[in-house]
Amino acid sequence: MSLRRPSSRNVAVIGAGWAGCAAAVECASKGHTVTLIEAARIAGGRARRITQHGNHLDNGQHILLGAYSETIRLMRVVGLKPSELMLRLPVQMRYTDTSKGIKFIASLLPAPLHILSALITSQGLSWSDKLALAQFSSAARWMGWQLDHDSSVSELLERFNQTEKLIVCMWRPLCIAALNTPPERASANVFLSVLRDSLGARRSASDMLLPKQDLTALFPEAAIAYIESHGGKIEFGTRIKQIERLTTGIKITGDDYASEFDAIVIATPPWITQDLMREHDESIATHHFEYEAITTCYLQYAKSTRLDHAFYALLDEANDNAWGQFVFDRGYLNPDQAGLFAVVISAANEASKLDHSELSLAVANQLATAFQQPAYAKPEWTSIITEKRATFTCTPNLDRLPNKTKIDNIVLAGDYTKSDYPATLESAVRSGVQAARLIMN
Ligand SMILES: Cc1cc2nc3c(=O)[nH]c(=O)nc-3n(C[C@H](O)[C@H](O)[C@H](O)COP(=O)(O)OP(=O)(O)OC[C@H]3O[C@@H](n4cnc5c(N)ncnc54)[C@H](O)[C@@H]3O)c2cc1C
Repeated sequence: MSLRRPSSRNVAVIGAGWAGCAAAVECASKGHTVTLIEAARIAGGRARRITQHGNHLDNGQHILLGAYSETIRLMRVVGLKPSELMLRLPVQMRYTDTSKGIKFIASLLPAPLHILSALITSQGLSWSDKLALAQFSSAARWMGWQLDHDSSVSELLERFNQTEKLIVCMWRPLCIAALNTPPERASANVFLSVLRDSLGARRSASDMLLPKQDLTALFPEAAIAYIESHGGKIEFGTRIKQIERLTTGIKITGDDYASEFDAIVIATPPWITQDLMREHDESIATHHFEYEAITTCYLQYAKSTRLDHAFYALLDEANDNAWGQFVFDRGYLNPDQAGLFAVVISAANEASKLDHSELSLAVANQLATAFQQPAYAKPEWTSIITEKRATFTCTPNLDRLPNKTKIDNIVLAGDYTKSDYPATLESAVRSGVQAARLIMN
């Protein structure tokens, strides 16, 4: 049993995605009594475990960066060892030998030598590509990784004379992977912030981290155990439908649920937050977001099937029915998943319109061609998972919502709140911590 400190508050966090879990952990760690309320039967939200063909998989393959400092800090707070839970790889863009792609792989040297050596040893780039890349990165560094006036990523690349090869093989896939928005529509400033923390940062910040556990086990489950051990509780299967302000506090209501709290953190996705706040804050309810889908195609092959590396970039070309942008060999992350590949299609609004069997066939054929392995065209089974509103469309000058609302004791958390980062696990976690701090102050 835990005793509430005199200054401790009774806080509800609505939504057990990564933002809600982060907010709840932050509040619990400072002695507040937390109730975490989740509509689903599992925590993690848009980064959660799903079960397919008896495997614990994810609703979408995720990559974290060494620069995800708040995520890594909170994983440690809840007793996890991030270095044991994720495979750490140097930042890289590696296509198959037979494709017209490139190989650009950072070395283990300290920054900026890790990128400089990647540039020198890269394959598939001409000297003019390399020069353009070097000029881009020194100009971006000189500008402090920000433009005075935001523009699209395409305009940024044109302004800095980036070659067709760099755009196709490096910048476009990076932009789509990081912002889930095509360069024509993506914010240059948000893209530059990601580059600042990857190409422009110390080497370890630029590392790519691939989860070896499923995403619910990677943080949300340990966060819940931590909250419970600090006197809090979690209510699964409880969808909150209404928020009321009382003189004594804030009342929240779901189908079979009603309870009153001193303060609440709304950590639901933006479209739900807007509904819940409709009566309370017009500026939130009327805010306009557009969304982009992400599709993941899992393909199971014989257990002996293994790529030469944990992941590869793929050249996507919708006109050729080639949709995949990256392929991950899950056998590198979990031996039980040997022979299982995950192919990621970001900014997938078009691909997600295809019939599942048609799309998985197209992806399998794309792999067979990219790796020159006819057997990849015939997987044992496939599964397609599309998150239709995976992230907001990250356009130039997008006005994101602040954590603070007009109502005292109601704050917002989520990847869509104000941040120089795109919709990512790190922006969700940072936002959760920030929301909790507002409540506690
Ligand atoms: C397929 C895919 C791939 C991605 N890849 C990456 C990646 O590689 N790297 C990266 O950093 N990020 C990636 N992202 C983005 C990242 O997953 C999200 O930014 C992050 O998970 C958002 O977390 P959140 O807590 O803000 O929101 P959510 O995860 O949406 O959490 C909101 C929670 O609220 C719950 N909820 C909703 N309504 C109610 C209600 N009325 N009452 C109670 N609970 C409710 C939901 O069930 C959910 O659990 C990816 C996202 C997707 C979908």
